[in-house]
Amino acid sequence: MTFIEVKNLWKIYGKGEAKTVVLKGLNLKIDKGEFVIITGPSGCGKSTFLNILGLLDVPNKGMVYINGKKTTLMSENERAIFRRKISGFVFQQFHLINTLTALENVELPMMLNEMDKSYRIKRAKKLLKSVGLEKRANHYPNQLSGGQMQRVAIARALANKPKIIFADEPTGNLDSKSGNQVMNMLRELHDNGITIIMVTHELEYTRYATKVVKMKDGEIIDIVEH
Ligand code: ADP
Ligand code: ADP
Repeated sequence: MTFIEVKNLWKIYGKGEAKTVVLKGLNLKIDKGEFVIITGPSGCGKSTFLNILGLLDVPNKGMVYINGKKTTLMSENERAIFRRKISGFVFQQFHLINTLTALENVELPMMLNEMDKSYRIKRAKKLLKSVGLEKRANHYPNQLSGGQMQRVAIARALANKPKIIFADEPTGNLDSKSGNQVMNMLRELHDNGITIIMVTHELEYTRYATKVVKMKDGEIIDIVEH
């Protein structure tokens, strides 16, 4: 069943001399429960594409359908609500809030969804336990290793029970052991039915994918089904 459909997607920055065409008419279909890996050389448009799929950014032309809904026509506010309801994000740079503990970072998306405090704390503790960090709940990000920070970020991404996880080079700042831990967590989430869409240039990880989307110069040059 088609979950996400992309039709003739264009992204252009700037005007005149400074014009950069970053995405050139992309088309893609993603089913529920897929593990999609988007790969290609640096600067080919992977992050831009992921940010548009995740409704963090909008295209200049074309459409992203999610569950048949024309997301590109939504207002910024509608997109924010939709995003909080169905998706979780994991970034290369972790994007944790340094003034909040691990537990509070995981609580944050639930606060934005107005869940009550006792539920938030209970669920945040459970999620930290599931990523092996129950003993680090009261640590601040700067007291954690990169691998631990990314595991907190995964727990945070799961806070609102997402249907999709968007991950942009989630292993890019990690050593191979921590990177493999993160990949195993993503694989487990995929096994539990969550759709994963991940950008990486590390080709060894394509073995986890149900679909590998290869990009070059703003175009999809190949789609390999596994
Ligand atoms: P990748 O993730 O494959 O490395 P990106 O999507 O980050 O590629 O970037 C693709 C191209 O778009 C690059 O040439 C980059 O410089 C350009 N780009 C990204 N964001 C902006 C922006 N806000 N303004 C202008 N150009 C941008
Ligand atoms: P990477 O480290 O993989 O290159 P970035 O740090 O560039 O990823 O993040 C991708 C984009 O998402 C950036 O434009 C950033 O501003 C945006 N972003 C990051 N975190 C959030 C967030 N929590 N909510 C909304 N947008 C975010």
